[in-house]
Amino acid sequence: MLANMYVSTSAANGWQFNPAKWNWGSVKTWVSLVQSGISGYGLGSALENKLKSFKRDLQSEEFDLNTSNLGEEGGEHDMGNVLFLNEEIPAGVKPTQSGIIASYSGNLKYGQYGWTRTWPNGDIKGHFGIDYQGLVGDDVKAMYDGIVVKPTGSSFYRVFGKHGIEIKSVISGKTYYIDYGHLIQSPLQIGDRVNVGDFLGNMGRLGNVPSYAPTHVHIAIWRFFMKCRGYVMPHF
Ligand SMILES: [Zn+2]
Repeated sequence: MLANMYVSTSAANGWQFNPAKWNWGSVKTWVSLVQSGISGYGLGSALENKLKSFKRDLQSEEFDLNTSNLGEEGGEHDMGNVLFLNEEIPAGVKPTQSGIIASYSGNLKYGQYGWTRTWPNGDIKGHFGIDYQGLVGDDVKAMYDGIVVKPTGSSFYRVFGKHGIEIKSVISGKTYYIDYGHLIQSPLQIGDRVNVGDFLGNMGRLGNVPSYAPTHVHIAIWRFFMKCRGYVMPHF
């Protein structure tokens, strides 16, 4: 499939072979290169290395370039561009009472943030958040002050369930979005203001929680970065 895409796009407009037209500051350029499978066409070692690192950044559930297989579920599947940001924000309050990170025998790092999962073919896969383990019905609390906003796109609900919550928070002068996924219920409405530590809802398994995964709340903290979602590691 990749070969076909490569041939068809390059033959159609020659775009792939005209680096002078490429905008190297654009994320879309790198995404296109990764999607085209281009490599070894005299890009130069610096660009080749950047391409490799960018491909690694995009190797998430949104960018399964080789198959349509989702493998281990979890995280988002909205085809948006995503990146891990090397950025720290002040610690928030624990969203659960125990603060335990989810794991199971098949993957002890299952709930951890970062490159903690694998595709069926064995390739490494990103998890753009942390899964805090618990039981259905456990209280979930706000990690930071903020306002409940409408998540962008229906994929949010497909992934995080119909009671998933997204809260917009200003942290250290920057605007972040904090997703609380898989809740079984929440009393909150769009526009509601929440304070740190407030009750947000109850833990559940709605959305894309696979049967083998422990019950958890998926916490994702991100902000817009170069037209991508740049994720930061949640901590408290
Ligand atoms: Zn998760």
